[in-house]
Amino acid sequence: MLTAEADFWKTDITYLKGIGPKRAEILKVEANISTYEDLLYYFPRKYVDKTRVTPIGQVFQEGLAVTLIGKLGLFEMPQGKTQKRLTTTLRDKSGFIVLTWFQGLNWIVKKFKEGDEVVIYGKVTYFNGQAQMSHPEIELLRDDNEAINVMSIAPTYPLTEKLRLNGLDSRGLRHLIHQLLELHGNKITESLPDSLLQEQHLIGRAQALRIIHFPPNFAQLEEAKKRLKFEELFYFEVIMARRKQLLASERQARPFLKVGDLFNDFYQHHLPFELTNAQKRVIKEVRADLGKNVQMNRLVQGDVGSGKTIVAIMCMLLAIDNGFQVAMMAPTEILAEQHFQNAYRLLSPLGLQVDMIVGKIRTKTRKRVQEDLLAGRTNILIGTHALIEPTVQFQNLGLVIIDEQHKFGVLQRASLWNKCPEPFVPHNLAMTATPIPRTLAMTVYGDIEVSTIDELPPGRKEIKTVVKSDALRLEVFGFMEQQLQLGRQIYVVYPLVEESQKMDLLAVEAGYEAMCRKFPNYRIGIVHGKMKPEAKEFEMMRFKNKETHILVATTVIEVGVDVPNATVMVIENAERFGLSQLHQLRGRVGRGGEQSYAILMTSKNVSYPAQKRLEAMTQTADGFIIAQVDLELRGPGDFLGTRQSGLPDFKVANILTDQLILSQAQASAFSLIAQDPDLSQPEHATIRKFFLDFITKHNLQDMVA
Ligand code: ADP
Ligand code: MG
Repeated sequence: MLTAEADFWKTDITYLKGIGPKRAEILKVEANISTYEDLLYYFPRKYVDKTRVTPIGQVFQEGLAVTLIGKLGLFEMPQGKTQKRLTTTLRDKSGFIVLTWFQGLNWIVKKFKEGDEVVIYGKVTYFNGQAQMSHPEIELLRDDNEAINVMSIAPTYPLTEKLRLNGLDSRGLRHLIHQLLELHGNKITESLPDSLLQEQHLIGRAQALRIIHFPPNFAQLEEAKKRLKFEELFYFEVIMARRKQLLASERQARPFLKVGDLFNDFYQHHLPFELTNAQKRVIKEVRADLGKNVQMNRLVQGDVGSGKTIVAIMCMLLAIDNGFQVAMMAPTEILAEQHFQNAYRLLSPLGLQVDMIVGKIRTKTRKRVQEDLLAGRTNILIGTHALIEPTVQFQNLGLVIIDEQHKFGVLQRASLWNKCPEPFVPHNLAMTATPIPRTLAMTVYGDIEVSTIDELPPGRKEIKTVVKSDALRLEVFGFMEQQLQLGRQIYVVYPLVEESQKMDLLAVEAGYEAMCRKFPNYRIGIVHGKMKPEAKEFEMMRFKNKETHILVATTVIEVGVDVPNATVMVIENAERFGLSQLHQLRGRVGRGGEQSYAILMTSKNVSYPAQKRLEAMTQTADGFIIAQVDLELRGPGDFLGTRQSGLPDFKVANILTDQLILSQAQASAFSLIAQDPDLSQPEHATIRKFFLDFITKHNLQDMVA
């Protein structure tokens, strides 16, 4: 077990003056602060520039936050019908403004009186033409030690109502932190080696922590932030570097030494099309990894339709040429089935046996497959997470391929690894159509190498994407009719979110009926998540075989499904979909040679972020740009799923916007670990301590276990 040493900074917060059991409890519950360190690392949410004081008479813009200085007038507590409130005025030579409080009235009355000169800060509102401010930040203007609050830059801390009401507002917190720094600031130790500070031009830790709470100016604040971001990212990257080393030393795999007959034969005689350069490059990268006796851990990211499947097929052949079996896992039965059919079509002519295990497979077939697997007759097994079951045993598993890997959790992904004879693990190839920027991928997946298919097969026409409001539905129907007459097929997709499943289901069914009425001469199919897998499968297959012309569906068709004759994707309530999801859905069309269309239907009220998403969809077809915008809109935690990705909640760093610092921290951390893998050299004792501390603090023990 890794544990951090106890140290001074773990001292209980109650040792500070003014923190009794009650406030300690509030700090703990509301802000997760219970030690000196927690308090020191409770960073401001934003900083307010107070240098610019506005004359009160010149305040005229509603909603604008301003700093005002003036004298307080008479305090009044009008007996309102509804709510108790406290009002007064603030006056300078140029005019006056009304101040109002609805809460914490007693505290204000106790602290301030008529005639006091104060600084206030807050947002201006108007009532009957009179400028007002409710609950301003307020401070007496005098110069004893209260001056810490009347700074030119005022930090604002993340607050809750409870904190505010108990004197733990920004001002109260500033007082506590001030006290802490006065008493113990000299005990803040440096966490980064001198050489690194110099090389990266970083200020010291003590100084940075002081400035982040009490910035003398914005330039120094930036320096402090940079230093703290670097520290945070550096320790995270040390974990990643160590993890990578551990994996490399512990995860032995059997090398695929030759490129054999199957691979060559397929490449020369059976490829259905010429590979793109990107596909060739990625196959080469994979081949280089597979030749080593260390487990390959490679993620192939490529936009929808970039042709990841054929890359997977070629990798399968490399494994089989070397006497190994292959397992391929997909997140849904439909996808598994599709991969099965592809592999079967392409590889059974070479005399290979391809089998499938999904939930619906009959016991008899399952038994047969299990036997063939054990006897080594099955070369390739494709399936859903049903592959994980202990009854599925291989004779000689050498390669695991996981499609749409972001749909699986970390543990699920590794669950097939122990199906390989000890002490080896199979090589591991993952594929995803949700690409993320390279540095980010390296951060998130640290121990995984990333290959990118950054080129679409030739002859693809860009999918025309439009946003249409409900009012234009007739026009859309007309367009659908045209396409149907040309012999094309159409998807109509409805959102399905868990909380409102019933209503969503009704919408899909109503949509289906509307289509049946509108297009009586065509056959319409329907698939949704509430249907039995066989029924879904059946409908999908009918569509694939052109037996139906329109498929009304929920997002069950989101990933991977390939029907080249489908040219129109109508997305209902498009504003309810996430950006990556919209892009995935759009990727279901444009898979053949015909011009394809995505029509994003929206209702009247579309929120701002949704507008941004729809706009991005009409502006670009590039999955990497889409992913970047999506990341920016949602933030990395949401986009990647923090828990699933194993990413900690960073306090100051933002792995999106701080990519430069990130790559520097990454380089420093990796070179450190290359030189001293377990940080045992005496000069790295401090780093080791802070590293262990970081692990504990962010609960990352699993990452280095
Ligand atoms: P994805 O990366 O989304 O999984 P697929 O592997 O399903 O994409 O490929 C999308 C379509 O493009 C398929 O119909 C496939 O046969 C075709 N395809 C793949 N690579 C090429 C290529 N190099 N040239 C022409 N068509 C290709
Ligand atoms: Mg695919």
